Amino acid sequence: KLPIIYAVTPTYWRYVQKAELTRISQTLQLVPNVHWIVIEDSEEKTDLVRNLILESKLIATHLNAKTPPFEQIKDKDPRWKRHRGVEQRNMALAWLRENLQLNKDKGVVYFMDDDNTYNIKLFTEIGKVKKVGVWPVGLVGGLNAETPILDSTTDMAGFAINLDLILAKHEAVFSYAMEKGLQESEFLSYFTTKEELEPLADNCTKVYVWHTRTEKPVVNGIVQGLEV
Ligand code: UDP
Ligand code: MN
Repeated sequence: KLPIIYAVTPTYWRYVQKAELTRISQTLQLVPNVHWIVIEDSEEKTDLVRNLILESKLIATHLNAKTPPFEQIKDKDPRWKRHRGVEQRNMALAWLRENLQLNKDKGVVYFMDDDNTYNIKLFTEIGKVKKVGVWPVGLVGGLNAETPILDSTTDMAGFAINLDLILAKHEAVFSYAMEKGLQESEFLSYFTTKEELEPLADNCTKVYVWHTRTEKPVVNGIVQGLEV
């Protein structure tokens, strides 16, 4: 039986938000034992997200945490310069630590961005995680696939952590001080060593998740949200 998978999804308003959340929620509906934690990057929870969660019938927790203005992504900022989802993922970590109990609640935590593409086979792999499991992510960093065995870097979508570790290590959070790109490996270093990482997805030979990015739509002839 699959352990509970806590899928942590930061999300923010833009034209494609509903489309992204529809896709991810319907992926999660195919997973037997999931608890979806959705954190809106906003002052207040929105009806759009509330209704979408309700309609999904998933076991879910709806939170919000606004990215402070100084870290907000400016349309002109190259996307690599800015951290995304920091506030929201930390909010989810705080929720887990406040609401779940070490040695009582069991599960695996997976950071699942709203715009990636997930093969449902990935969740069987996540179910095998003992401490920290890793696997390749497709279409990331200008590569066809990023493989944790060959690379020192890991994409946010390329690992999952046992809930016990998350609950035991309260000091483990994401921070703006972490260099972008090292965010993931710095976070993982709270829990494990590189040697201890558990290679999944057929010893990291299979790609079950892709770092896809949705094109900005054109509405009334205007590109919605210009980004480099
Ligand atoms: N995100 C957010 N607020 C923002 C930008 C992004 O909450 O201002 C969320 C987004 O919905 C996604 C995650 O953070 O779930 C990663 O963002 P994005 O996919 O834009 O980053 P990238 O794929 O370029 O690393
Ligand atoms: Mn993305």
